[in-house]
Amino acid sequence: MSEINVKFSDGSLKKFEKNISIKDVLSSLNIENNKKFFCVAKVNGVLTDFSATLQDDCEIEFLDFENSKDAKKTYWHTTAHIMAQAVGRLFKNVKFAIGPAIDEGFYYDFDLEKPIKEEDLVKIENEMKKIIKEDLPVQKKVLPSNEALDYMQSHGQTYKVELIKDLEKKGADIVFRTQGEFTDLCGGTHLLSTGKVKAFKLLSLTGAYWRGDSKGKMLQRIYGISFPNEDELKKFLIIREEAKKRDHRKLGKELNLFMISPEGQGFPFFLPNGMIIRDKLIDFWRKEHKKAGYVEIKTPMILSKDLWVRSGHWEHYKENMYITVIDDVEHAIKPMNCPGGMLVYKNSLHSYRDLPERVSELGLVHRHELSGTLHGLMRVRCFTQDDAHIFMTKEQIESEILGVIKLIDKFYSTFGFEYFIELSTRPKDSMGTDEQWEKATEGLKAALEHSARKYKINEGDGAFYGPKIDFHLKDSIGRTWQCGTIQLDFNLPERFDLTYVGEDGLKHRPVMIHRVIFGSVERFIGILTEHFAGDFPLWLAPVQAIVLPISEEYLNYAKDVYNQLVSKDIRVKLDSSNEKIGKKIRQAELNKIPYMLIVGKKEKSNNTVNVRTRCSSREEEIEITKLCEDMLNEIFMKEIKNKNGST
Ligand SMILES: [Zn+2]
Ligand SMILES: [Zn+2]
Repeated sequence: MSEINVKFSDGSLKKFEKNISIKDVLSSLNIENNKKFFCVAKVNGVLTDFSATLQDDCEIEFLDFENSKDAKKTYWHTTAHIMAQAVGRLFKNVKFAIGPAIDEGFYYDFDLEKPIKEEDLVKIENEMKKIIKEDLPVQKKVLPSNEALDYMQSHGQTYKVELIKDLEKKGADIVFRTQGEFTDLCGGTHLLSTGKVKAFKLLSLTGAYWRGDSKGKMLQRIYGISFPNEDELKKFLIIREEAKKRDHRKLGKELNLFMISPEGQGFPFFLPNGMIIRDKLIDFWRKEHKKAGYVEIKTPMILSKDLWVRSGHWEHYKENMYITVIDDVEHAIKPMNCPGGMLVYKNSLHSYRDLPERVSELGLVHRHELSGTLHGLMRVRCFTQDDAHIFMTKEQIESEILGVIKLIDKFYSTFGFEYFIELSTRPKDSMGTDEQWEKATEGLKAALEHSARKYKINEGDGAFYGPKIDFHLKDSIGRTWQCGTIQLDFNLPERFDLTYVGEDGLKHRPVMIHRVIFGSVERFIGILTEHFAGDFPLWLAPVQAIVLPISEEYLNYAKDVYNQLVSKDIRVKLDSSNEKIGKKIRQAELNKIPYMLIVGKKEKSNNTVNVRTRCSSREEEIEITKLCEDMLNEIFMKEIKNKNGST
């Protein structure tokens, strides 16, 4: 009997009999009791089901639900199969389309003679529970394409037939998974058996076009989520309810921040209130960047094809670009700011004395996204990147990265965000020399160590052109959002032949980074809206105060108060309607106005206002000059003032 050597991610080595299943390797390690829920393995870097067997020496890493996206996706995707099987059992002539895992949970698209109704979801859930109880093993089978086509054709699965034909063209294996009576075309990874899924919930039923194409057929899509235990599911559902209340699309409408019109799918319009938030964010951004030694440029929105060919976008990114013809020459609307930034660098000579050069640009970029993926301000077809390119010498990598980390920290802490950092290192397929990668990666690590920030390393997850650092924000209800990135690039300086003159009088290649802090200004506004549930801190609030006269008798005094605040540059409104004061207060609360200033007889004779804040029902009489001082102070401090009613 022959043996194989298996190397584990901690570096240890163990011998096993050839043909051992991954599941048995895992059990031999006795690590199942450390509360981790292992879903899938990486064998020599390739995601592999636990049911697979090992034939040769290999490196193996076990991925658990909590710490690995791939593990989560395996778990969720297996649940999608269970859901599809349940739908197949309950409904006649179901045509199955696709059922992937997504960032959070999974979905499956179906084409049915008799549509699924909202109330059917419970029935489907009950059938899924049965399938989980049956604990059906998930078995893999690879078929030649003609057999695969025969099988799906004979079962009337026209969507699968289309998918198999695509796979055939790519020369890919046609892989099936079978659990009980249900067989699905699927090359993804799966749990060992249906019984591994412990807690799940079907979340919604919507329509979705086949292949996301609005000319295609409208299918029915069911979304769901699953977890290895009930507690986590419960926690998820509570956060989901909270998130619904905070949905930036709902608040955006109620607070007049932005709109999306059918005439511009994926192209948001900013309304006056949203525009104030946007301007304030950008003011803050400019001020901080100036302090950090950045200069600002603006590059054109439309540039000719030869530039995009040179940058590599024409070859690798064309599908996402909007293209137009000017004077018979093809041009593209920029999907990224970098190529324009390269032209600016090349516009002048650079000496080592000029470096580092920190060049920022708030660039409006357009990228084609499928209509089915668009989502308020979070996923759009045009957005403003708060971009910057830093050109430097190899020796400056560490200090420049540290500078960017500090700047990012300043921004995120201003909004009360916690965040975590991931460092992605050299992938198998990459450009650049060993020395370049080593220097760059060491520079990033040293900067992270210096910043005293914890970070996680994603080995081999960098782009082919350089390592990167990602920043993930944690919002007030615990959701995470990837926003900031710092990306080293060995590719563009080569492609554009960027140089600087060194101390030796010779030409050298600068090191370049791309970095963003907000990521997309539009998406960041969406995230802030949900993070604050529309209760923006005073410096961002579109309306900072409203004067509410108790009756018409005090309207003149109210106008006087209003004018005093206006003269201090405070964004104030006056409610001169004939409504009762209670109603005026409720309306101001709905509009999430931080300061409500109530004026009546007493206030008029004392030259004061009665202040009520959105966080406190307590009222406080205060002189107007003192009020303005307090508000301006709060605006200047930019902190989230949480006035507690009990203090
Ligand atoms: Zn699958
Ligand atoms: Zn760039």
